Amino acid sequence: MDAALEKIERLKRERNAVILAHNYQPGEIQDLADFCGDSLGLSIEASKTDAKVIVFCGVRFMAETAAILSPGKTVLLPEKTAGCPMADMITAEQLRQLKAKYPGAIVVCYVNSTADVKAESDYCCTSSNAVAVVDSLPADKKILFVPDRNLGSFVAERTGRDIELWPGYCTTHVCITEDDIRKARQKWPDAIVMSHPECTEPVRKISDELLSTGQMLKFVKKSSAKRYIVATEKGIIHALRKENPDAEYIPATERAICPNMKKITIDKVIASLEELKERITVDEQIRVKAKESLDRMIEILPSD
Ligand code: SF4
Repeated sequence: MDAALEKIERLKRERNAVILAHNYQPGEIQDLADFCGDSLGLSIEASKTDAKVIVFCGVRFMAETAAILSPGKTVLLPEKTAGCPMADMITAEQLRQLKAKYPGAIVVCYVNSTADVKAESDYCCTSSNAVAVVDSLPADKKILFVPDRNLGSFVAERTGRDIELWPGYCTTHVCITEDDIRKARQKWPDAIVMSHPECTEPVRKISDELLSTGQMLKFVKKSSAKRYIVATEKGIIHALRKENPDAEYIPATERAICPNMKKITIDKVIASLEELKERITVDEQIRVKAKESLDRMIEILPSD
């Protein structure tokens, strides 16, 4: 084992730490993690681990989510500037104003949101269970969906529900264009196009499958196809190749890279474990309210 990885193993034992990595993390970070997954899988893992320290290789809202679910644990984000532009597209005050405009509506917030916004929401959801969460809500209720208008419109299409969309979006997924998909299809006509619901509507419309990253991994495992065009952040291709090495994976575009996800490095993971930084904490009042919306989400698993 290489010296850096040996050091991480030693520090993990000393600290009683577990390392969680999102599917968009650099390949070497996914390889050293104890658990890799999408936001839903990581949220569940964070809520049930016995470790005292959680090193979250992802972006700030994910570490905040772990801190909300595991108040007795130390949650670390190895790079303090790793944020999510989409999560920052709505503030708690903006959400309060939206709620005042639609009294009685149910607020569903994508897990890619700040703790303050989660605390103002009724339900959280991830891209894996957004449809199941909205389907579970009373049919006569209007739904306010924040912050991702693309995931929100995907949910509206699938559920037929009356949904008010907040105009947020993922700055990485909107880099994937309809033209990218058409060109890739021309070059590889036998490939299955798998797109993430954070992609824009024109991209979603011409895709074969709309799946979260966790669902992509499951889909490929069951499918007999040998080639896939992947329309989401490129990091998932590392996980797809690792789990299903016999198929070929083509990124819809080389531009689909989230710069924040790529800020985590092996050296930063070591520094994080050595110095117990950057500690992510959430104000207790906000945490308790945000946890209610996360708990309601964790109860509703997708049907796949
Ligand atoms: S891929 Fe998009 S939604 Fe995910 S962290 Fe990056 S900017 Fe945020």
